Amino acid sequence: MNAPATETRKFEAEVAQVLHLVTHSLYSHKEIFLRELISNASDACDKLRFESLGKPELLGGDGELHIDVSWDEAARTITVRDNGIGMTRDEVVANIGTIASSGTRRFLEAMSGEQKADARLIGQFGVGFYSAFVVADKVTVLTRRADAPAGEGVKWESDGKGEYVLEQVEQTERGTAVILHLKADEDEFLKAWQLKSLIRKYSDHVAFPIRMPKEEDGKPTGEWETVNDASALWAKPKSEISDADYIGFYKSLGHDFNDPLAWTHNRVEGSQSFTTLLYIPEQPPFDLMMGGRDERKGLKLYIKRVFIMDAAEELLPNYLRFVRGVVDADDLPLNVSREILQHNRQLERIKAACVKRVLDLIEKLAKDEPEKFATFCKAFGNTLKEGISEDASNRERIAKLLRFASTKGDGAKQTVSLDDYVGRMAVGQDAIWYITADSYAAAAGSPQLEAFRAKGIEVLLMFDRIDEWMVGYLGEYEGKKLRNVAKGELPLDEADKQKQEEATKQAEPLLKKLKELLGDRVGDVKVSARLTDSPSCLALSDYEMAPHLARLLREAGQELPESKPTLEINPQHTLLKRVEAESDATKAKDLATLLLEQAEIAAGAQLADPAAFVQRMNRVLLDA
Ligand code: ADP
Ligand code: MG
Repeated sequence: MNAPATETRKFEAEVAQVLHLVTHSLYSHKEIFLRELISNASDACDKLRFESLGKPELLGGDGELHIDVSWDEAARTITVRDNGIGMTRDEVVANIGTIASSGTRRFLEAMSGEQKADARLIGQFGVGFYSAFVVADKVTVLTRRADAPAGEGVKWESDGKGEYVLEQVEQTERGTAVILHLKADEDEFLKAWQLKSLIRKYSDHVAFPIRMPKEEDGKPTGEWETVNDASALWAKPKSEISDADYIGFYKSLGHDFNDPLAWTHNRVEGSQSFTTLLYIPEQPPFDLMMGGRDERKGLKLYIKRVFIMDAAEELLPNYLRFVRGVVDADDLPLNVSREILQHNRQLERIKAACVKRVLDLIEKLAKDEPEKFATFCKAFGNTLKEGISEDASNRERIAKLLRFASTKGDGAKQTVSLDDYVGRMAVGQDAIWYITADSYAAAAGSPQLEAFRAKGIEVLLMFDRIDEWMVGYLGEYEGKKLRNVAKGELPLDEADKQKQEEATKQAEPLLKKLKELLGDRVGDVKVSARLTDSPSCLALSDYEMAPHLARLLREAGQELPESKPTLEINPQHTLLKRVEAESDATKAKDLATLLLEQAEIAAGAQLADPAAFVQRMNRVLLDA
């Protein structure tokens, strides 16, 4: 070792920032420090057990992995000790002095909004270690990696303010001890019953024994007693697991304070045996809201109860990334690597089983628990929509679970299923009609709905960003095409068609005039079958992107080909009569351009020249 025996270092800037945020804004749920430290100790035991599969000598005859929590009233310290993998000096620096995972940076990103540093964030972003400084004004870590000699123990110490001290120490036992020197007003944690109840509350389902010094009549007996359940919950028979057990397990697994919304626990026996315990959370975790750009977490893969790795990416498709849980396989080789997992047939089968279980569970909610299902839709409905493109084999099942607002629904509430829609289609109606916009108001108020309203045809109102894209993949449902009201031909009967032709013939001079006035700003001008009240709207060809979407993409910096819209008009409208009668060329052009611009605005498009639009409107208003 070339490093000096003792040195003082500065925390990396971002770590210092996280520390500051955590210690200055975490007032509620201070007690989570214990859960986080125990969770780290448990991870360390998992890692040692896994590494020792190939290198049994790592255990050095001490294969009983456990976590000890003790306290010292006189010294005012709490110690969490594990005999897990431990850390080298470099690992200590990398894991708790710098940005150990992308978690630190993501945590800061999440905090940059209005978000308060609540306890929920801390566990989810993998910055749990720092929660020690919420209750401690000094933290000492003593650690030795399982494969390092006793002389290469490491002592790390910090007051959490900006610097830490590293020292090489003699450390006879492997593993890690975290010693918290409590702040002046945190004495409540120095009581055995308090620590014990926190362990039961937050860490009961950690699969390693958590031990505390045994006391009799308030005096230590010198022995240790295990205070948690310490077994793999998912491996127990279902009949022995209570709802409270399931909920408790979820909370420690997902670092969540809320109860899960639902769960499903299954054992498959046969040529390939495995157990799945899968949860749907009640609220989206923060990484889901942030687009899930980073590595996905939340589904732990065990093989015969040995934790192997977080395998959410291997075991769950992206559109089910909100699921948390455990998969325990009996028949996978214990030495699997991520590379092997990615091409493993057995794993493919387990993945398919996970997807099936989750969809079963959501279907059950939809059928039997409407309130929970509504919560689900609100939290994850949009994520589920991604499955329409991602998982073609389950497309119908997923489509059945989607809910939309509709012209025959309950306002902006997204409660109408495709089955509801198909069930009340009129005889002879052969398409499922929808409109996309960027808000409920824009969808519900669109002039394109007028003819549909007049004919009593239901239209699904879609206003999530993903909808247009999702519908494109769905294409049809139960043999009925999904069609955009703004695109292509409308469902006209013979009488309608005749009326339409007649109107077009009559409006011939008007159409010609408008085309001349608007020049190359439009591709075409037509008499609309869509309008009853409004003067104009845009119509799209089947392959054209909805204007509101084109605007969003342009705002996001994408280059899109310019497309010239087709303007549809309602010749009966007074404004069009005015255009027809207007002999002043400038005035006629103002009116015509405004008809186009209002259609663009209603469709959520971007006005090419807003200032010119305002001037034009003012000229017309003053003239009126
Ligand atoms: P996370 O657990 O999500 O990675 P933490 O802030 O809780 O984030 O811990 C940071 C890192 O410090 C861990 O990933 C681990 O590498 C290391 N670490 C913390 N506690 C221990 C421990 N008891 N034994 C070994 N390594 C630990
Ligand atoms: Mg942790």
